[in-house]
Parts: sequence; structure tokens; C-alpha cells
Amino acid sequence: MDGNATAEEKKESQLQSEVNQSPCVWSSPSGADDVRLGKQIFCNRSLNMKNIVAVGFDMDYTLAQYKPETFESLAYEGTIKKLVFDLGYPPELLQWTFDSKYMVRGLVVDKKRGNILKMDRHKYVKVAYHGFREMSKEDKVGTYGNTLTRDSFDEPDYALIDTLFSLAEAYLFAQLVDFKDKNPGRVPAGADYARMYKDVRAAVDLCHRDGTLKQMVAKDPQRYINDDTSIVPMLDMLRDAGRSTFLVTNSLWDYTNVVMNFLCRKRYGNASTALSFDWLKYFDVVITGSAKPGFFHEDNRSNLFEVVPDSGMLLNTDNGTPMAQVGSTVLHSPSKGLNYACRVFQGGSVGHLHKLLNIESSSQVLYVGDHIYGDILRSKKVLGWRTMLVVPELEREVELLWQLREARKQLQGLRCDRDHIEDKLHHAKWSMRFEDLTVDEKQKLSSAIDSLESQREKVRLGHQQILCKCHQKFHEVWGQLMKTGYQNSRFAHQVERFACLYTSQVTNLSLYSPDKYYRPSEDFMPHELDILALSGKCSLEVK
Ligand code: IMP
Ligand code: MG
Repeated sequence: MDGNATAEEKKESQLQSEVNQSPCVWSSPSGADDVRLGKQIFCNRSLNMKNIVAVGFDMDYTLAQYKPETFESLAYEGTIKKLVFDLGYPPELLQWTFDSKYMVRGLVVDKKRGNILKMDRHKYVKVAYHGFREMSKEDKVGTYGNTLTRDSFDEPDYALIDTLFSLAEAYLFAQLVDFKDKNPGRVPAGADYARMYKDVRAAVDLCHRDGTLKQMVAKDPQRYINDDTSIVPMLDMLRDAGRSTFLVTNSLWDYTNVVMNFLCRKRYGNASTALSFDWLKYFDVVITGSAKPGFFHEDNRSNLFEVVPDSGMLLNTDNGTPMAQVGSTVLHSPSKGLNYACRVFQGGSVGHLHKLLNIESSSQVLYVGDHIYGDILRSKKVLGWRTMLVVPELEREVELLWQLREARKQLQGLRCDRDHIEDKLHHAKWSMRFEDLTVDEKQKLSSAIDSLESQREKVRLGHQQILCKCHQKFHEVWGQLMKTGYQNSRFAHQVERFACLYTSQVTNLSLYSPDKYYRPSEDFMPHELDILALSGKCSLEVK
């Protein structure tokens, strides 16, 4: 910049260079070694980015991270208004408040019983609350443990809290359960727990569809969406590396345009607040109103419409090829006159997308989303797309894991001690029953049994206290997202099965080379782990 530049020009140039040199773009010679634990990309199934031709993104809660304290509160308040004014719930609900930190993903709602559950990967219920009241162990086992056939804990009797969108409705349901228990006559006649859940679901659904949420976000996106200056550099990086990029979102065009304008806007100089279509230059294809997960079904025959960006009008297409409208012989796409190559569509199916992007094999596509069922499960399992799941909770989770590494070692030691003590105890009790012992020997063995029993109780309590403390560091009520006790949680199990990669933020992609070969860590079965950890695991010398 020459010496005559005005202060404003200098500031603009500085801002521009900050944007260009975003620390988030991959450039480090030591590669992933520099990436902070909370920002790392974790790999379940090896993925060579060199084989990826197109990288696709979901929008809501993937590119756009909503602020729970404002966005989810808006959903919560909107839902309560609909319950009170449309569905006959008492006006005192309008005074209720929302704690956006209480519910977590991975929980399961038992609609009929009014319970919220956390289960492990074998679907054993490990934490259970009725409304906000913790169920006793006996109650929990009586309800979920002593059945003749295993419950699948799936729809229609159960609902999975598997998107961040669902946290507000789960919280409201728990509040209603408490309210009904304390004031049985105050909920609408005939409203049992399952009906209350259905009402909440219907009201939330309406908030998403009738503009309650979207109009507010459109008025002031900054209030509801985290600003993220690293999205554009990430998209640029992928495109510079020769990848096609696409967006497939269930949101419709008008709202998608608002959110993407906010995320991809210029943040310097005479940046305008008017909506523009500039952001389309970061994509090859945009599909709105995609109706995932149905979009991924091979037999999906949904029509693909082209969206006219200016008016939002929908045009018929012949599987993506423009069709002339009656009275016109023009056969080009409505985006042709605009300054970008990206075309915008609504609906359709994955077959259309493959054709538009010239994809030859589904394994050439990497799709990044936040919803295991909506974005990841079907796209990977049925279609064979490669997948990356965005789990914002992970950033704090892995950093806490690191801080708690000593306590976790201690827990492993205590579990090992408990096993040793129990083995000795069982052996001693067996001898007592079946061996031909003298009175003196019996007395000695009996006091050894007493001592072992008290050691076992001490170890059990010690283990329980440390485990409980560790879990509470993650979340006071629900503990660690990816664990239930010391087993993987149901949520973790799904992440492991369906996401090739998982990470805390979509833009972590740009912290790694676009040609990175992601490799999983070695699998260990319990027999291998036991051998590896055999030496020095136990902390107690069991006598
Ligand atoms: P995506 O994550 O970008 O595919 O978009 C998710 C879309 O689904 C957003 O437009 C949400 O407003 C919408 N959505 C989320 N939950 C519900 C619901 O319960 N009913 C209707 N729409 C929903
Ligand atoms: Mg999403």
C-alpha cells in the first residue's frame, strides 16, 4: 500500500489480509501435529481425501452453528405459545424458562412413561429421570431391566434426541411431566405423557414451518448464529484443491440464502447488508428443501426443480436439464445471467446430484453433516458416501478427557483391583463350602473373607466416587456424551458405526491438507487390550 493511503484504506487492507491469512487454513509444515485436541478430526474408517471428488455440506448446525441460548430459547418460547394458545395448555406455562445446558444429545425420551434415558451401546439404561426426578436403581431396573424381550428403544414409543434442534423440546417435555405429576388436573383432558410429547412435537414442528424461527433469524442472524470467518477460506481451500463443493439442506431457498449470506459475507470495507448471491460462487450445486434422509433413498422419485434465485420461483427440469416454459424457447438455466456457475435446486434425489456433479462412484463423495439419522446413516450405509459428523460438544469433551487422564488411569486400576479381590473372594468362599478344613483353618479363612469383603466395598465406593466425579465434570446430570459408565454410550456407538470421520466443527477440515489420508487407530478387542495392559495395571496388592 502506498504512503498516501487513507486510514480507511489501510484498515480495509489489514482486514482483508486477516481474512486471507485466516489461521484456520491448512499451511503448517508439521500438519496435524499442530492441531489442538479439541479441533482434531477423528477417524473411524480410513479415508483418503485424494479419492474425494466432491465435498458436500449440510447447512443447519453444520455450516451454521446456532447459539442455543438464543436460537433454542426462541424455539422453546414459540412452542410454549402454541401449546397455550392453540392446544389448551394453561397460561402459567408462559412463565417457564429454558435451561439450554440441561439436555444433551444422545438421550432417549420414553414418551409413554415420561422418562428421559441415557443408555450404553448395548442399549442398557444407565441413567433415568422421570421428568427432572432421578429414578431409583430399583425403579430403573424394574422398568427397563426385567423384561422378557429386549426393548429396541426406537420410535414410535421412544424418541431420540439426536439433533441440537431437539434439546428444547426434550426440556419442555420434562417440565410438562413434572407439571402433570404435581397438577394432574391442569393439563388438557386426556393428555397422558405420550399425548403431551405429541403436542410438544407438533408445536415445535410448526415453529420450524410457520416462520416463528426463521423470520426472527432473518431479521438478525448475528443474534442467533455463531459468526465464523473460517468457512469461506475452507471452501476456497477445497475448491483450489480441485474438489467440487455442494450444499444439500432441508431448509428452503429463502432461508438458506439468508443464512449463507450471513456466513459468507464480506466483513470489511463497504460490506453491504443486502442479500446477494455472491456466496454461490463457493459451490457447484446447491440443493434446498432436500427432504433428507429420503433424498438418499435410491428409489426416491422426487422431482428436481430449479430455483430462480431472485424470485425464489421454481422451474420444472428434466432431471436437472433446463426445460423451456410455455411461450418461451429459451433453454438455459435461470442462473446463466448471473455471475457464477452454481445452480440452485429444490427437491430431487441423490441420483440427480450425482449427475449434476458427474460423480462416477458414490465413494468419491464426502458429506459433512450434524445429524446421524438425517445426514449420515443412510448416506453412508445405503449409498456408500463417505461421511463426516460434526459434534460441537466434542471440543470440550476431549479437552476434559485430557485433563482427567490421571483419574481415568486410577479408575482402570480400581476396576482391575476389584476383579482380583472378587476372584479371591469367590475362591475362598468355595473352599469354605467344599473343602475339608480344620476349625482353625475355617476361622482363618472366615476372617480372610471378611477382610476381602471390606476391601471390595472400599474399592467399589472409591471407583464409584471417582467415576461419578469425572462424569459430573462433563455434565452434572448426564455425564460424558460418548460414555455411559465406562462403556461407550449409544450415541458414541452410532458415531463409530456411521461416521467415517467426526470432529467438533466443520471448518476443522481446513486444518488438514486437502489430500490428507485419514487413518483410524488400531482396533482393539478386550483380549488384546488385556494383554497389552497386563503389566502394572492394578494398584492394590491384594492379600
Ligand atoms: P439441514 O440441517 O440444513 O438439513 O436443515 C434442517 C432444517 O430442518 C432447518 O430448516 C430446520 O428449521 C428444519 N427442522 C429442524 N427440526 C424440524 C422439525 O421438527 N420440524 C420441521 N422442520 C425442522
Ligand atoms: Mg443439519
